[in-house]
Amino acid sequence: MALLVQKFGGTSVGDPDRMRAVADHVARTVRRGDQVVVVISAMGKETDDLLRIAAEVSDTRPGREMDMLVTAGERKAMALLCMAIADRGIEAESFTGSQAGFLTDSTHRNAKIVEVRPTRVVEALAAGRVAVVGGAQGVSPENNVTFLGRGGSDTTAVALAHALGADSCELYTDVTGVFTTDPRIVSNARKMDRVSFDELLEMTANGCPKPAMRCVEFARTHKVDLHVRSAFTWEPGTIVTEEDPSMEQAIVSAVVHDADEAKVTIGGVADRPGIAARVFRALADADINVDLIVQNTSDHGVTDISFTVPHGELSSAISICESHAAEIGASRVTSEPAIARVSVVGAGMKSHPGVAATVFETMADNGINIEMIATSAIRVSCVVAEAQVELAVQALHDRFGLAEGPVYVD
Ligand code: ASP
Ligand code: MG
Repeated sequence: MALLVQKFGGTSVGDPDRMRAVADHVARTVRRGDQVVVVISAMGKETDDLLRIAAEVSDTRPGREMDMLVTAGERKAMALLCMAIADRGIEAESFTGSQAGFLTDSTHRNAKIVEVRPTRVVEALAAGRVAVVGGAQGVSPENNVTFLGRGGSDTTAVALAHALGADSCELYTDVTGVFTTDPRIVSNARKMDRVSFDELLEMTANGCPKPAMRCVEFARTHKVDLHVRSAFTWEPGTIVTEEDPSMEQAIVSAVVHDADEAKVTIGGVADRPGIAARVFRALADADINVDLIVQNTSDHGVTDISFTVPHGELSSAISICESHAAEIGASRVTSEPAIARVSVVGAGMKSHPGVAATVFETMADNGINIEMIATSAIRVSCVVAEAQVELAVQALHDRFGLAEGPVYVD
């Protein structure tokens, strides 16, 4: 008998038929002799709808009330799923995040899990029931309902799997697994059978939308293996696990991209200690998430600093840079919203030279100008014009032969 955590995303439970299909799957799993804990998201686009209604009703939208509102989506879904499971002759009990023992901090809208004490979930399992837990929610030290943020249900599932010592944490979604690139852009994108935590973390940090990056970080830290799979076809998906040193490592495993990027350049700043520190401290204090940073070599003691930020943070980033321009002696602040980042990720590039060269050749062959470059041990990223990013993704996916299967380090 295995203990499984099965997490279902919004589209997986998007309408009554989908709810029943999920209940069938849970029932099948239970009849096979396994114990099941379900983590469920709000149905379909309900979270978006709730956020939209709030914006229509209120200008202030206090965090405590926003969290009370948004977590209602998961609460409805969990009760409905329990009813559908009950129809199949299997007892199921729903639990809010608070009831399931998710203790969080008090950061409304984006709370962090502090501890999970799943006593009631354990009791439900011991009594032979399926436990259905509302995703992305918990309770603060002040006893207020908290929301873990967008995509927080993935984190709920991983944290619960860890706290329960589950045998597997299955993340059911509307795709069949993790792909070598975005299948909407590249038709021969291939589903990966397995991917390491480190690779998937780089992928999610660089534009791969699912699973949520925070859940991958948690899974890596606590060594909770994940199985990303489809709630539509039920076929085996992608296993996310620790890198096995005895196994072959793909030189390049995936190509990801992020179009939600904009570039800011601070021109003509003095090349002396403390300039970058001052600008980036001010950006950090304003909670601006700076990504790539490039400083040019200086010419006659003067240099340019460019960095990228998400589109939503561009205007605040520009005003902060402008307000510091005089102090740091900058002659101008310019920006470019229509850029995007394309990245290749692969554990094997650590020990295999030439990946960056191949990436740059591929760009050159396709007439794509590289505006910025950044690397980690297992990633090479280029910032390019947004209009060319899909071409870049296709070309790199082709060049590294990812549709056929990974090339391993010899
Ligand atoms: N329903 C919430 C969202 O869409 C939480 C989640 O499903 O992960 O962000
Ligand atoms: Mg852009």
